[in-house]
Amino acid sequence: MSTVVDGRALAAKLLNELQDQIGNLTAQGVVPTLRIVQVGDDPASTIYIRNKKRKGASLGIDVQVVKLPETVTQTALLHQIETLNVNPEVDAILVQMPLPVQIDAAAVVAAIDPAKDADGFTPANFGRLWSGDEGPVPATPAGVMAILQQYHVPLRGQHAVVIGRSRIVGRPMAAMLLQADATVTVAHSHTRNLAELTRTADIIVVAVGIPHFLTADMVKPGAAIIDVGINRTAEGKVTGDVDFAAVEPLAGVITPVPRGVGPMTVAELMIQTVALTKARVAHD
Ligand code: NAD
Repeated sequence: MSTVVDGRALAAKLLNELQDQIGNLTAQGVVPTLRIVQVGDDPASTIYIRNKKRKGASLGIDVQVVKLPETVTQTALLHQIETLNVNPEVDAILVQMPLPVQIDAAAVVAAIDPAKDADGFTPANFGRLWSGDEGPVPATPAGVMAILQQYHVPLRGQHAVVIGRSRIVGRPMAAMLLQADATVTVAHSHTRNLAELTRTADIIVVAVGIPHFLTADMVKPGAAIIDVGINRTAEGKVTGDVDFAAVEPLAGVITPVPRGVGPMTVAELMIQTVALTKARVAHD
């Protein structure tokens, strides 16, 4: 019998704890402030942003969107980032991806002040993460770490296989697991004999974007299975990367989709925004 993670309940618990910290800040006249830069009208981005705004509003975090047209130039976008960088009332900035083709996304991310980097995507913070230093970290893998910790999944000396090497999930995930003393294997689209690797894993994090990618024959009994995937079926249902029905009976701890990693991502963004606010207040 496996333990199925309740991501919603865990996110609510963490945000409840965060509420106290926000209360302490507002008592000092400080309202944590997050600015989301949105370019164009990508429908998925609009939904993600709406969720972030709602969550922020419910917690007392000032989340506002700086909306720019799809046709914005690189120069104008960089100028907007700089305006937010120098605005003393802004604690945290994130640029909603994807950006239109005329924009060099890496240059835009690199322009964000690392001290206001809500997503932890700037090269400076990415370097910090891989160096084992403190700093803002990407929300999705941070949410996975919170799940592993709260569900008492041992990490030290354990073999963790991360499938996927994107900048937003796989790579920072590998760094965080390494920092927690796991032995980490990063698999990707060129990896050979993946099932042989995953069968030796105590923890498997799947972030590929293919439904039913992780099957029961790839899993060691008792392993912790973290499904980061968000895929939409033809019927419009949301499903992860794990063949949940087949893998769940084998797993130790397993995250479902939806209601697993997803709710933790928004929660971690809020946690990060408050951490940046606290760092700024301590610095003032
Ligand atoms: P991506 O497309 O940038 O990366 C996918 C990764 O999968 C790549 O590194 C690729 O090498 C690897 N891959 C592809 N085919 C493979 C194969 N056959 N074997 C092994 N590896 C293979 O995707 P991403 O942005 O990292 O997102 C991954 C999934 O996670 C998507 O479904 C995305 O929607 C979801 N996601 C969820 C959250 C959340 O909050 N839960 C956040 C971000 C992304």
